Amino acid sequence: MKHKKILVYDTTLRDGMQGIEVNYTLEDKIQIAHMLDEMHIDYIEGGFPLSNSKELEFFRRVKNEKFEHAKIVSFGSTRRPGRRASEDPNIAALIDAETDVVTIVGKTWKAHVEQVLNTTPSENVNMFSDSIAYLKSRGKEVIVDYEHFFDGFKDDAQYALKLLEMGTREGADALILCDTNGGTMPNEVTDILRSLPLEKLAPVGVHFHNDCGTADSNSLLSVLEGVVHVQGTINGWGERSGNANLCVIVPNICLKTDFTTAMCSRLKRLTSLSRYISEKANIIPDKRQPYVGEAAFSHKAGQHADVISKAARLMEHIDGSVVGNERRIILSELAGKSTIVRKMSRYGDFSKNSRSVRQLLDILKSKENFGYEYEAAEASFDLLIRKHIDKYSSLFELNNYHLESYKTGDVRSKTVGRIFLTHNGKQIMGAGVGFGPVETLDMAIRDALLPFQPFLEKIHLIDYRVRVLNPEAATASKVRVFVTSTDHERTWDTVGVSENIIEASWEALVDSFDYYYNNFVLENGRE
Ligand SMILES: [Zn+2]
Repeated sequence: MKHKKILVYDTTLRDGMQGIEVNYTLEDKIQIAHMLDEMHIDYIEGGFPLSNSKELEFFRRVKNEKFEHAKIVSFGSTRRPGRRASEDPNIAALIDAETDVVTIVGKTWKAHVEQVLNTTPSENVNMFSDSIAYLKSRGKEVIVDYEHFFDGFKDDAQYALKLLEMGTREGADALILCDTNGGTMPNEVTDILRSLPLEKLAPVGVHFHNDCGTADSNSLLSVLEGVVHVQGTINGWGERSGNANLCVIVPNICLKTDFTTAMCSRLKRLTSLSRYISEKANIIPDKRQPYVGEAAFSHKAGQHADVISKAARLMEHIDGSVVGNERRIILSELAGKSTIVRKMSRYGDFSKNSRSVRQLLDILKSKENFGYEYEAAEASFDLLIRKHIDKYSSLFELNNYHLESYKTGDVRSKTVGRIFLTHNGKQIMGAGVGFGPVETLDMAIRDALLPFQPFLEKIHLIDYRVRVLNPEAATASKVRVFVTSTDHERTWDTVGVSENIIEASWEALVDSFDYYYNNFVLENGRE
């Protein structure tokens, strides 16, 4: 029997963005927030509203969007020394972000109070209590991050405890013990938690960093010791060696303990969420990641693949499908029949064993072997299904295009292009001049079609990402291109793969137009 519910707090969009090579656009952040919400994560930390305009804009945008489960959280710090909370610009920014939940971080380690903040331990206590009291008076749910809690506790346990008791008195909704330097060992976590009067404090949570490779174990141990809230990021990305990894902690809680989380009922989406975040960050997914990695349930033929086909339970700690992953024998096969049936269901009832489903699975496998990836390109996958079940109309047929790039001296190079295509039986031509070939092709398609298809005006490409698939082949490498497009109401992603980067881009670009045309122009009967 599962008894206690653990709250899950995601900081992919704040602490996660401190990680090396991690960067998201505003659009990415909004899409990611929705994906996290669909996963039933309880809290989504959106960022630090003071730090730059992108963060503020994020809060402005999400205010008008609907989230099914998650609460969006703005992040800031306690008031500065010698100031009133109501007059502190940092606290004001949290109010301006207009989230129902705010997280404030304050210092717990005296050395930091004295040497970094240049203030006294007692003023630091006031900084916590004023900030919490003020934010509570403004009707906020207040989560308090106790920075360097474990190091602070080892240095002066009484002071650290006093700060927790004060937070409880001021009405904080959760007290988060942070291992900011990531140096705490699992045995220390257990010892320290056992010495805290958890039942007398506001709900306690933890935030671990992975500098010793122990962030996940420390988080799990904390849950076993009675904390009720865990923080982390998808894929464990974050500052330095990263944060606790929700893709590890959450399935462990759901599958290996007596505790539960709201995410437990959505675990099947975990693998695809992990890959989605990888694609958005343009970081190659870690194949060896527990639970969600491509290798997590893969078996090489000749070793124990035979045993697997007979008795999977003997060779795997869980069934990978529980977390949306799949058993792989020899070659990767990303999507199984059930995924396909699920995706096809919007076009009718297809049984798992129908010929149509089997054929599509074969097509998908060969596409994936070639280098396509549909986890973060649902729109291209939708087109693949449509083509397969004859629910597809092409926006145009290409006759030919011609591109020419030129560069003179130090001036930025330009590309001129012409395109000839057939639309509704008519031959048309378009032209464009852009800085690069993709931009030029985009311009030329619009130039040709806009008079006949005004919807193109609404569509814009907002992101373009390229990944080299086989770097060992150097300049003859295959590339995978992802394109994200928007009509300012919705966004969709498409993919193209080729040895030729222009060809791969072309494919993703045409899919983007085709997807919109098939789903929102033709379906609306406007054509
Ligand atoms: Zn952190």
